[in-house]
Amino acid sequence: MSLKVIIVGGGIGGTAAALALTRAGCDVRIFEQAQIKSEVGAGIQISPNATRLLQRYGLGEALKPLAVRPQAIEARRWDNGAILMREELGAAVETAYGAPYYHFHRGDLLSVLSDALPRGVLQTAQCCVSVTETDDGVRAQFEDGSFVDGDLLVGADGIHSTVRRVLFGDERPRFSANVAYRGLAPAERLNHLGLPHNATIWMGPGGHFVHYFVSGGRYVNFVAVHEQANWERESWTDRGTVDDARRRYAGWHPQIHAILGAVDETFKWALFDRAPLEKWSAGRITLLGDACHPMLPYMAQGAAQAIEDGATLAACLAGVSRSDVAAALQRYEILRKPRTASIQGAARGNAITFHLPDGPEQRERDTAMGASTGLSPSRAALFGFDAEALDRPPSGAS
Ligand SMILES: Cc1cc2nc3c(=O)[nH]c(=O)nc-3n(C[C@H](O)[C@H](O)[C@H](O)COP(=O)(O)OP(=O)(O)OC[C@H]3O[C@@H](n4cnc5c(N)ncnc54)[C@H](O)[C@@H]3O)c2cc1C
Repeated sequence: MSLKVIIVGGGIGGTAAALALTRAGCDVRIFEQAQIKSEVGAGIQISPNATRLLQRYGLGEALKPLAVRPQAIEARRWDNGAILMREELGAAVETAYGAPYYHFHRGDLLSVLSDALPRGVLQTAQCCVSVTETDDGVRAQFEDGSFVDGDLLVGADGIHSTVRRVLFGDERPRFSANVAYRGLAPAERLNHLGLPHNATIWMGPGGHFVHYFVSGGRYVNFVAVHEQANWERESWTDRGTVDDARRRYAGWHPQIHAILGAVDETFKWALFDRAPLEKWSAGRITLLGDACHPMLPYMAQGAAQAIEDGATLAACLAGVSRSDVAAALQRYEILRKPRTASIQGAARGNAITFHLPDGPEQRERDTAMGASTGLSPSRAALFGFDAEALDRPPSGAS
């Protein structure tokens, strides 16, 4: 009989996991608190370690027309635009790793994932308030008093995870002292800049600015990060003004101001992460994605790692009987922990590297970055990784 899997949270991680688990023969249901499935109006980069999995789930053709396939990642200096590093993506990455590097509007990606779910898998407006292990399974309880039973439960409920809190206690995420403005500019307003189809990252003192095309090239997505000691608001998002964003980047390259000038609205995010968790699972309950390894976005890997989690989890559960569920979850955790912890650490490291003030350390960084051109060998462990292949020793990202 198929294992009955309850997934709490229908974001990119939960939805991709549902596809992987369905493919592995499980009977899956996702319970999402929101009334309608949605994602923030912003872009996302999805690297080959994740697109490889999405292609295996049969989503390649649906994703292609919505994706932008960047030619390269370029790092530039904040004031004069000098190119500090160029790393090939596009065809070079596809040849090397057998899968594309894509840029998406988040809403497009989530729609493709959820449209591919079998009918009835996704239940919306179901806010999970508690999870418990029963004598022979698990139970999730919802705000409206209803409950559902299954053989195992996966908390894919994001950085403020309820499932994680129930399993491991209430520990607040860490504010990184980094805040991001995010937004989308209609591409036709920026035609005069002749922007290449790259992921461009401008690095400067106390901040960085990333931009790339999304929605098949119709919009330019930007993420503008700066350091800020406090975040005093209750909410972790806020409607920031475009003028505030422009003031923050006073003195930065005119291209950054042209992009900000083409934006109608921006919103502001406080960036949080957590230290790697010691344990992800308890009995028949486990976690995936931001619920267990939220990371700063400076490796562009949070969603990719959530997608990898789902693939490994499904591979560990394939063909497993009800009595072996807890052991399969242990195996999943052992396989995933070192890699995600190392990427969490690397993302933290980039918060320092990307924001160095001009001086000796910045010059050292620029020299080191300038040495790497073409297809970066350091990416092999990240992009070449196959999360469905279980017969390997647990390893980090590099
Ligand atoms: C500025 C920024 C840029 C980023 N850029 C990239 C990038 O380029 N590439 C990349 O790979 N990653 C990127 N990330 C990271 C990425 O967005 C996240 O890692 C990813 O979205 C996590 O997915 P998730 O499904 O684990 O969690 P979430 O997306 O947070 O989804 C959790 C879901 O659970 C639901 N939920 C929560 N609580 C409950 C409950 N109690 N009951 C039911 N449902 C519940 C929520 O409504 C939500 O739908 C970026 C992040 C930021 C902030």
